[in-house]
Amino acid sequence: MTPSKKLLKLLILLISSSFYAQNTNEVIIETFQLSNNVYMLVGQGGNIGVSVGDDGVFIIDDQFARLSSKIEAAIKKLSAKPFQFLVNTHWHGDHTGGNENMHKLGATIIAHDNVYKRLKETPKRDKSMRPKAALPVITFNDKLNIHINGEQVAIFHVNNAHTDGDALLYFTESNVLHTGDTYFKNRYPYIDLNSGGSIDGYIKAVKSALILIDDDTKIIPGHGSLSNKAEYLSFLKMLETLRANVQAEIDLGKTEDEVAKNSSITKYYDDLNYHWNFINSEKFRRTIYKSLKP
Ligand SMILES: [Zn+2]
Repeated sequence: MTPSKKLLKLLILLISSSFYAQNTNEVIIETFQLSNNVYMLVGQGGNIGVSVGDDGVFIIDDQFARLSSKIEAAIKKLSAKPFQFLVNTHWHGDHTGGNENMHKLGATIIAHDNVYKRLKETPKRDKSMRPKAALPVITFNDKLNIHINGEQVAIFHVNNAHTDGDALLYFTESNVLHTGDTYFKNRYPYIDLNSGGSIDGYIKAVKSALILIDDDTKIIPGHGSLSNKAEYLSFLKMLETLRANVQAEIDLGKTEDEVAKNSSITKYYDDLNYHWNFINSEKFRRTIYKSLKP
């Protein structure tokens, strides 16, 4: 190996190892108080909601297994009460990865029927199956209410949105909404067509959540910082605009590749930086096309 190649290899090694370190050890769990008893926890992966009070700890989503002890420590700072319930907003690993650990800490896991099915039947990335402790114990097909810590928490399913098992949660007294991944703040959302997601269901999900909330509602998005109704409305406008733009191309007889390559379809929102490393604008145009013309 020539010296310059050696140097390059070393440099790549250094860059990738620092990137890896950032992705594992250096994650900090930040806590934001949204009401007397409801908090938002931000770390790596889907945002976490926490309700604390006399009845115990109630958690929404749990990011990755390797972060469980950090998440537990952050929650223990808010309450010494036992972990009671954990709701999964959907089955993706960045929202359910800590399930087994949270179960061991005492939480009873609750989710939509399809979350149970997908967690039980789909192998993990390393091809292993999840243990029983990582699966929901209570499942529902439409709606569920939890009466905990002085308020009713309405949990409701939306059909074929981000996946086929999405649930949104509304804290009726705290006036806090957890959207799960039916909302990526200021970003093109991931719509998991392979897990039953669809652009039309996604738009419907946002509309049905908007009916429940008002201008003072604090919104925990699946990804991104704390949000509000006005921002959720502009996210909806983005979805409806781009859906209409792609439909217009389909009506002109354009193919999936033509739509994927035509950056003018998304230009307005591309300029507002809605694209990101996982969902770039081409991928988002392709997703909408596939969803409208499977
Ligand atoms: Zn997701």
